[in-house]
Amino acid sequence: MIKKGLYDVIIAGSGPAGSTAATLLAQYGYRVLMLDKGKHPRFHIGESMLPMTAPIMQRLKIDWTENNLPKGGAAFIDEKQGRRSFFPFQGKYKTFQVDRSVFDKCLFENAIKQGVIAHQQEKVVNINCHDDKVIIDTDKISYQARYFIDASGRNAIMGNKKKSITKLKNLGKFALYQHYQLNDNPITAALFSSGNIEILLTELGWFWCIPLTKKRLSVGLVIQKQPPINLKGLNLFNHSLKASPRLNELLRNSKLLSNLKLEVDFSYLNKQRYGRRYACCGDAAGFLDPVFSSGFFFAVKTAQMIADQLHLGLKENREGDINLHDATDKLYQTGFQSMYLMIERFYCSNLVENLFFEAERAPHIKEEIVALLAGDLWTENNSFQQGLLSGRSHKM
Ligand SMILES: Cc1cc2nc3c(=O)[nH]c(=O)nc-3n(C[C@H](O)[C@H](O)[C@H](O)COP(=O)(O)OP(=O)(O)OC[C@H]3O[C@@H](n4cnc5c(N)ncnc54)[C@H](O)[C@@H]3O)c2cc1C
Repeated sequence: MIKKGLYDVIIAGSGPAGSTAATLLAQYGYRVLMLDKGKHPRFHIGESMLPMTAPIMQRLKIDWTENNLPKGGAAFIDEKQGRRSFFPFQGKYKTFQVDRSVFDKCLFENAIKQGVIAHQQEKVVNINCHDDKVIIDTDKISYQARYFIDASGRNAIMGNKKKSITKLKNLGKFALYQHYQLNDNPITAALFSSGNIEILLTELGWFWCIPLTKKRLSVGLVIQKQPPINLKGLNLFNHSLKASPRLNELLRNSKLLSNLKLEVDFSYLNKQRYGRRYACCGDAAGFLDPVFSSGFFFAVKTAQMIADQLHLGLKENREGDINLHDATDKLYQTGFQSMYLMIERFYCSNLVENLFFEAERAPHIKEEIVALLAGDLWTENNSFQQGLLSGRSHKM
């Protein structure tokens, strides 16, 4: 049986991308159904937020200043060389470190409060886009709608269906991570009061240290090179951890809160992000290595772009137009490509060594790097970004 005519838009996935797209479309007055194969609250990695997420939270009517740890900025640290470079988020650039299981649930419940119908534990299994409608099959029933949004995260329903997922090479290969309850002492107190994310450079890749409320710390090791040592999993994680004086100092007398988790092959682009009566947002459109914490921001930003453009299409009965998202997708590509180029240079051209550690000597470049790290990717006057996009290199 097909349930017809009940919904304008059906969305697969109720992570940050799905909940954002759903809420904005409901605000415009559309009938929206959001389906998720899982159930909130659920664990999700990705706790460090970018400042340019704030205007989108405002549109969603989410007050994220409560229950989250203010993030002072991003510190890049080379312990071997004793070098540190800090990029502060202040003034207009305010942001937070969040507990994703709690925050994603909050976005989900907020969507429902604003009129979205949501079904959990219902998996989307197939999509058929026609000229005049789209049919969405789940493991329970089939629905008909005017439009389908794929916000299924790294499951990338449409990308896999269309075989349009391309791996991005030369970025991080896999990540191992754990959560800790830290001990109360002046060193940990300083970290929690700054709220900084710390990126510790190691021989094989880098560690993230993300302080969370209630004195918890998220620690992840991202490996880019094939380890020369014959270690895997927990042994590799512990071996790298022991080599870091900063982590030894932070984790002294700490308590482990979770088992080691692993994420692999996380950098890719979906080359076919929209088509007739469908569009992909968030990780379903593409995901970059987490070094600059851009995933959540791109998720809600792409969701916002798609919702706003789709509103124009639905209003004028143009949602079947195959080119509906041409312009917004171009805009998305500028931001995604800028972040990609920064990350690629981080791994392949000593960006941190040559530029980040030298940035103190060139305040205007430092300001431009802060803007990009904040997710301020669509301004006209960022010469550092223009240099990245045109392939020029910067000298201090
Ligand atoms: C190692 C690592 C570290 C990261 N660190 C950060 C960080 O510090 N900061 C940051 O901003 N980002 C980080 N990220 C990325 C960030 O977490 C993601 O980019 C973000 O969660 C994307 O949101 P989303 O809504 O697109 O997908 P998700 O949050 O993954 O949500 C997708 C939803 O779709 C549902 N779903 C999947 N398939 C189906 C289906 N067939 N039917 C119905 N529902 C379905 C899932 O259950 C899920 O709820 C990190 C990622 C990795 C891998």
